[in-house]
Parts: sequence; C-alpha cells; structure tokens
Amino acid sequence: MSGILFVISAPSGTGKTTVARRVQRELGDLDWSVSFTTRKPREGEVDGREYHFVDGETFAAMEADGAFLECAEVFGNRYGTGLSQTKEKLALGHDLLLEIDVQGAAQVRRGPVEAVSVMILPPDFATLEARLTGRGSEAADQRAGRLAQARVEAEEYRHFNYMVVNADLDRAVEEVASIVRAERRRTERCAEAAQAILDGFPDQAG
Ligand code: ADP
Ligand code: 5GP
Repeated sequence: MSGILFVISAPSGTGKTTVARRVQRELGDLDWSVSFTTRKPREGEVDGREYHFVDGETFAAMEADGAFLECAEVFGNRYGTGLSQTKEKLALGHDLLLEIDVQGAAQVRRGPVEAVSVMILPPDFATLEARLTGRGSEAADQRAGRLAQARVEAEEYRHFNYMVVNADLDRAVEEVASIVRAERRRTERCAEAAQAILDGFPDQAG
C-alpha cells in the first residue's frame, strides 16, 4: 500500500511551517520531507534536519539528473524535493508531508506522484505583514519582496484541493489534521483493509 503525499503551501509568512510542524506533532505518523537547498544554513539549522544544504553546482547536477520531484527558485535560493527519497517513503506506506512554495506545488501537481494539496492563507494582508515582520528573519527589502509576491501566490489557491485560513493557530492545525484523517479514509485507499474484513465473512448462502 502506497503512502499519501500531502503538499502544504502558502505565501511566505502565513505560518505554513508553524502549522505543518504542529500537524506532524499532533498526528505522530506523518513523515517530513527534508528538501535540498542552496541557501546557507541559519543559526541553529542542522544539515540533514531542516534541509540538505548543497552548493549551486551540486544542485544543478542533481536537477540535470532528474533527481527532483520538483524544484524552484524562491527569493534568490534554489530548493528541491528529492524524487527517490519521496518515492522510497511512499513505497514503505508512509504518508509524507511536503512544505514547499507555490511554484513547487504546481510542479508536483503536474508530476508523476499523486498528491493532496492544501493552500494556507492568512486571514488578511495586514496579518501577513505583521507575521513576516514579527518573525524577523528577513531584512526589510527581502520582506517587501515576499509581500509583493504574496498576492500572486495566494491567487493560486484555486488549483489546490483544500484551502485553510490560518487565523487561530489551533483551529488551522485541527483543520489540516482533519484533511489528513479524511484523506486516509477515502474508500479507494481502504480497499485492502475492507477486503481483509470481507474475507472473514462467510460466503453468501444460496
Ligand atoms: P511561513 O512558513 O509560512 O513562512 P512561519 O511558520 O515561519 O511562516 O510563520 C510566520 C510567523 O507567524 C512566525 O513568527 C509564527 O510564529 C507566526 N504565526 C504563525 N501562525 C500564527 C497564528 N495563527 N497566529 C499568530 N502568529 C502566527
Ligand atoms: P526558507 O528559506 O525560509 O526555509 O524557505 C523559503 C521558502 O522555500 C518557503 O516558502 C518554503 O516553503 C520553500 N521551500 C522549502 N523547501 C522547498 C522545496 O523543496 N521546494 C520548493 N519548491 N520550495 C521549498
């Protein structure tokens, strides 16, 4: 039985990392995909944990080899999801969560692996601005660039399977967790379990 691939995207600063990490903790059985990036590690980030940190040459060689399920340039750095890593986890029957940008999500939709996609939106623009400023991880000019992109990215919501508003964090986490739980119970994904139950039933008489 193959695992399910979940993709979470949002305009930068919406809170998708916060929401996705909390969902993973709450459910306890969702694997986290570690992306490759050419970005330099921030303080406290560990190679192989937050990201696989690689140089531009290595990244380009991997891309040429078809090593990525998707890859994109996001705010001046390159990011990509390993194709073989993704397939291996799914083949083991593990459900996998990708937290990627909106361009990457579009590539996954067109790619070879079926995915369930969730767009997270902020309740309004002012909240997005306040969160991005409050996080304090970008300089003011970088922040302006991210905010300028936000509308274009948010418009993409219509191509996703689900849309969740991250106003109250607990509620957003619960809604995303509910999506995961419901997708796991789709009949087409439960055929093996249902058949095992049916196999134990006596044959229909006469
Ligand atoms: P993203 O991954 O979408 O860029 P982050 O997860 O880094 O965003 O969140 C951006 C900032 O907003 C962080 O400082 C985070 O703590 C805060 N944040 C996230 N969700 C909420 C929420 N529902 N209410 C208030 N603050 C939030
Ligand atoms: P950060 O550098 O702040 O960790 O991430 C910047 C942006 O890159 C975020 O929007 C994040 O979701 C996105 N990102 C992280 N990993 C990947 C990836 O593997 N593919 C794509 N397309 N985007 C990614």
